[in-house]
Amino acid sequence: HRSAGALLAVINDILDFSKIDAGHLRLDARAFDVRDVADDVCALLAPMAHEKGLDLVCHATAAVPSRVVGDPDRVRQVITNVLGNAVKFTAQGEVVVRLDAETESGATGAVRLRIVVSDTGPGIPLDAQPRIFEAFQQGDPSLTRRHGGTGLGLAIARRLVQRMDGDIAFTSTPGQGTTFTFTMRVGR
Ligand code: ADP
Repeated sequence: HRSAGALLAVINDILDFSKIDAGHLRLDARAFDVRDVADDVCALLAPMAHEKGLDLVCHATAAVPSRVVGDPDRVRQVITNVLGNAVKFTAQGEVVVRLDAETESGATGAVRLRIVVSDTGPGIPLDAQPRIFEAFQQGDPSLTRRHGGTGLGLAIARRLVQRMDGDIAFTSTPGQGTTFTFTMRVGR
């Protein structure tokens, strides 16, 4: 069952990446609660975090509106990729997710969501940092041996947030941890 799951994840990543690359990604515009989406992802990853003795904390500021308009499945996918990595690679300590939002000035009233995921994991080696968002690129080879993966998760995440008028960046200190920050523009 685990092997099938791992294979399915690889196939889905490759299909998704190809679809986005070919310009065939259509984003939905539905009302959803981004807190619920983040809570769902945390709930899904909580057993893995618990098994490793990690603290997993999810926090949203009062500025985050309860209903926004966008593509909840793609927002979920980005959070899952980034948070999944943090929980997967961190051996001890904590993983914290923070949601914040800012309403843009102007008539549209669009909302810029900002999600920060920080961990106390191994960090990303300095030589790997410049290419971590490229397809099929992975960091520390010993992590890859232990955890597998495709090196597509962050490439997909970056393309998705860029399609949502946002961006993704990180700071990482090898041996201390990593913080990913990504933004997305959604409707009100
Ligand atoms: P995958 O997780 O399938 O290997 P990703 O594109 O999601 O691919 O990540 C690329 C690489 O970036 C990972 O293989 C890992 O080396 C590194 N990485 C990503 N997130 C973290 C993190 N939170 N801590 C340490 N390394 C990370």
